[in-house]
This record gives sequence, C-alpha cells and structure tokens, in this order.
Amino acid sequence: MGPILAVEGLKAYYQMRYFGTLREVRAVDDITLEIQRDEIYGLAGESSSGKSTLIKTIARAIRPPLNVVDGAVRFDFAGQGPRDIYTLSAPELAATRWRHLSYIMQGSMNVLNPVRRIRHSFVDFAFRHMSLPMPAFLRRVEEHLGHLSLRPDVLESFPHELSGGMRQRVTIALATVCRPDFIIADEPTTALDVVVQKGVLEMIRRLQREMGSSVLFVTHDMAVHANLTDRLGIMYAGRLVEEAPTRALFRQPLHPYTAHLIRSLPRIGDDTPRHGLEGRPPNLASPPPGCRFHPRCPLAMEVCQQTTPVMQELAPGHRVACHAAAQGILP
Ligand code: SF4
Ligand code: MG
Repeated sequence: MGPILAVEGLKAYYQMRYFGTLREVRAVDDITLEIQRDEIYGLAGESSSGKSTLIKTIARAIRPPLNVVDGAVRFDFAGQGPRDIYTLSAPELAATRWRHLSYIMQGSMNVLNPVRRIRHSFVDFAFRHMSLPMPAFLRRVEEHLGHLSLRPDVLESFPHELSGGMRQRVTIALATVCRPDFIIADEPTTALDVVVQKGVLEMIRRLQREMGSSVLFVTHDMAVHANLTDRLGIMYAGRLVEEAPTRALFRQPLHPYTAHLIRSLPRIGDDTPRHGLEGRPPNLASPPPGCRFHPRCPLAMEVCQQTTPVMQELAPGHRVACHAAAQGILP
C-alpha cells in the first residue's frame, strides 16, 4: 500500500482584490510531502509560517479568500486508491469526516456546545458515523474516555464544569472515537500547562498505536516534536525547507533555520545564552526572492538571493532546500 496522504506541489494563496488589483499572500507555496500509514508526522515552524494554512488546505477546510491555486491533496484511506480531496462531492467529503479524517483545530475546545451536556456533543457529532445502537455507542464512548483518563460522568457535565485540560481531552476523545484513519491536530496542547500537556501527548501516542492511525501534528514547540513525532517537516515562510526522521533531524539539522529552532530549545543544566535570529519572517505578500530565509541566514551566499533552493534528498529520508547544505556546508 502506498502512503495514506500525498501532497503534491500544493499552492494555497489568500487572494484579495485591492483597488482592482489582485493581492496574493502565498501562505502555502509549492509543498510536496507524503505521510505513511501508522506514523506521526510533525509540522514545525514559527507562527505565520503557513502551518495552520497548510493543514486547513489538506483537510479541505478552507474558505475564500484562501484558495487552492495549484497542486493536489490525495488521500488513500484503507488502500482504496488515492483520491484528490478536492474532487470529492459534498456527500463524499462529509462521509470522510470523523470516520476517515478527523481534524482537531486550534482552540477546538470550542466545538463543545456550551449549553449542552458532553454526552449530547458525542451523540450529535459521532453517533451517525458509527453503525452501533445507542447503548453500545455510549459504552464505546465511555471506554474511549477511559483511554484518555476521563471518568464516564464527564458525559453528564457541561463544558464549563470541566478544566481546560479535561475539555481538551474530551475534544480529542470526540475526534478519535470513530477511530479515524487520519488525524490532524493543530496545536492541541498549546493552551495547557506542562503536566497536563505531557499526559495528553502520551494519550495521543497511545491512541495512535492502538488504532494504527496516521497523525499530522502541528506545533511550533520543538520539544513536543522531539517527544511525539516519528518524522518532522520544518516550514518557513510558506515553504517546506527540511524534512527528516525526527531523531536524525535533531541529531544533524541540515537547514540553518532548523538548526536555529533546535538551538533555541532550553537545555537543563546549560546556562549559555541562546542567540535569537535577527529579523522577522517575511511578509508573504512580497516574499524576498531566492531563498526566503536569506535576509536572516548566517550562511547566506550570493546565489541565495536569486535562486530558490529546491528540495533535495541528501541522506536517506532527509530532504532539505538549501544551497549551503547542497554543497555540504553544515549549519
Ligand atoms: Fe541560508 Fe542560502 Fe541555505 Fe537559504 S539557501 S538557508 S540563505 S544558505
Ligand atoms: Mg497556527
């Protein structure tokens, strides 16, 4: 069986008319990646690097002014053969939700209806996707909540009666109770304190193992990626700049931006000051020519200002888009 997801040359731009001229913000610019069955793929990069836009586009959860300009997003659920999610009819798309593809959005605790008990949210969202009679469905829900260390009585609670960490776990339970083939999660633990966060991550890992799902996990937090993901893609200014098995990437980053992200992680027992990067990420309405990172890159060369580096596989499974890396210069 091939990959469960293949993204090919994907471009998604915010397109706005501005006094008759088209202004484009190239938030996702020519991204190609594959996600295998049964793996946790992480997506990292600072805020506004296009991570959230990319996964919204992958999930076909976009609205104008964000449009897909080029490329394809092919899912192959259960090995039925790849299909571009943008060619599915509305009923076909609806049929993938919850059962095949589940999307835990940023701030998704808000999907819980504040005036309905948690039980109703499960019935409203998940019941019709499972061919189970109601009592069996509720037993399944209770068992699943147990996997996330939640007691069955949360079902009778209102969202405001639960702590943030419990609400987030309820949301994750809701998104996973139908055992979807593919789970997309955007910063699901960012709002939680460290202890709760650790618990939630362990549960995502355990659920993923038990269900054999694939997970696309987005966060700017490199420490979370180090603990959770199997492979990692790094985004900068709308582009994927490096991708590798997570361990290999931490052991030897090849892109200067990745090296910066790793070096800015705090280390226990190491007080040497961390050097921040000069400058800010570019405005994606008018990104710099060549490598978009060149105005901030300590290794920038002349070619970097003119020629966009292309992704090259420099070690098995380790791809990078950098002129210096291609010449064997390590960051
Ligand atoms: Fe730096 Fe050039 Fe590599 Fe871009 S291509 S990251 S500017 S060395
Ligand atoms: Mg985001």
